[in-house]
Amino acid sequence: MGIPIGKLKPKKVRKNIDLTLWERLYIFEIIRGMTVTTKHFMANLVGFVLHAKGKKRNIITVYYPEEKVELPPAYRGRPVLVMRENGKERCVACGLCEKICPASAISIIAEENENGDRYPASYLLDMSRCVFCGFCEEVCPKEAIVMSSEYEGLAKRDRNDLLCTKEMLLRTENSVKGRIEYIRRIYAKCNY
Ligand code: SF4
Ligand code: SF4
Repeated sequence: MGIPIGKLKPKKVRKNIDLTLWERLYIFEIIRGMTVTTKHFMANLVGFVLHAKGKKRNIITVYYPEEKVELPPAYRGRPVLVMRENGKERCVACGLCEKICPASAISIIAEENENGDRYPASYLLDMSRCVFCGFCEEVCPKEAIVMSSEYEGLAKRDRNDLLCTKEMLLRTENSVKGRIEYIRRIYAKCNY
């Protein structure tokens, strides 16, 4: 449980800190800083050589893109649309995500099929606007849009390349299974 804000004691910030003569000479502090930097540089260099030889290393640097970190399910990457088993989107074009999106990044054109079911004839997500807040995911009654762990391909030279269509956003349920299980826990959803 968090501490009530009223009970928090303000801490005094020391604004006038007198430097010692040693610190005021700067050169020794610069040497100290360079020593720390060199130590880490050498540790990473040795680690790189060990890695290249296929040996285990004890450093935490990740050699991206050859190596990638495993992201926790709480990570909010690119919002994606979840696919049904028949390859169609789960989305029923209710428009809630479009309404809630604080960045107005989503635009949907809804239509009805011959059975009278609604579906998004067009679902556009402008990734140049998205702020990864996850509101669209939270509000969706069908778990049809979820925050994936995708973080690559989000930087483009032309912002028009960040306009994603429904087809570009569709992902299999299996690929976002971890996130779906996670949002069921955090939002206590019981949709299905
Ligand atoms: S994550 Fe937030 S900003 Fe991005 S599309 Fe969803 S609601 Fe909009
Ligand atoms: S809230 Fe969900 S079901 Fe409704 S339009 Fe958005 S993605 Fe589709």
